[in-house]
Amino acid sequence: MITEKICISMLLGHAVADAAGVPVEFTKRQRLKEKPVVDMRAYGTYGQPAGTWSDDTSLTVAAMESMTRLKKIDYEDILKNFLDWYNDDKFTATDETFDCGNTTAEAIANFRTGIEPLNCGPTQDFSAGNGSLMRISPVAMYLYLTRGKNLDAAAMETVHNFSSITHGQKKCLISCGIYCLIAVEIFDGQDLKVAISNGLANAKKFYENLREFEDTLKIFDRVFDEKFAGLPEDEIKSRGYVVDSLEAAIWCLQNTDNYKDLVLKAVNLGGDTDTIAAIAGGLAGAFYGLENIPEKWLGVLKKKDYLEKMAADFYNAFK
Ligand SMILES: [Mg+2]
Repeated sequence: MITEKICISMLLGHAVADAAGVPVEFTKRQRLKEKPVVDMRAYGTYGQPAGTWSDDTSLTVAAMESMTRLKKIDYEDILKNFLDWYNDDKFTATDETFDCGNTTAEAIANFRTGIEPLNCGPTQDFSAGNGSLMRISPVAMYLYLTRGKNLDAAAMETVHNFSSITHGQKKCLISCGIYCLIAVEIFDGQDLKVAISNGLANAKKFYENLREFEDTLKIFDRVFDEKFAGLPEDEIKSRGYVVDSLEAAIWCLQNTDNYKDLVLKAVNLGGDTDTIAAIAGGLAGAFYGLENIPEKWLGVLKKKDYLEKMAADFYNAFK
């Protein structure tokens, strides 16, 4: 079952983790080994105050606002919100847009030139970044609220479309599919580790039957392997490449047992710290609940009330 409280803890879990990663985005793992992040920091990479969340959360919120207002998914309207974020700093933590991925920027530019929403996301191999995976949580909540746990082909098509407005590469579509299949298991009340293995197994089963994903699916063999959780840290890459980010987020969830450790583990991998933490942090927020997020971190989170209201309104639009 998904409740208003779970929607709130998923969004806040995502935003807090994003904010924890922002000050050290692009920092090398080795540097963080010498001086690990142990608490919510301020400044760093973007010179932002502590608790400042970035594009990962802004784009999530921008999608949620559109879906809540229209009580449905309208891809053109969501892209309009993305444009408002990009141009006018809407849906931001500090009224400033300070971070935007290349592929998302390209998709927004495509939208401005009048390209159909579902064709805005580039599909080339080098466009397989984590920019849609980091904002996919609303569609998981929406699908569970409106259809329940079983994500059939139509539901999975919605997930893929939701990605394609900025990221149309097949690796991005499968990564978003895996995220959503794990999320619905969590909403359904499974233990976190079980939710992850069920979600992965269901994803494998689903994509195996689809010819168009045949070649791409092989790239996910490693994360589908039951030995994946036991890999040593130095085999986990933490780049912005979507497969690396998905793997890193899942690995961190599999190797921790509370929200704080999860976020610190994700952030201290270095590289694309905010996004990997946000991907894992949203799922962790939904599973562990708001009470498990350090109060101190929630206390410094920018626009916490705004995020809380956004998640509550979203839940009430679709319950
Ligand atoms: Mg970011």
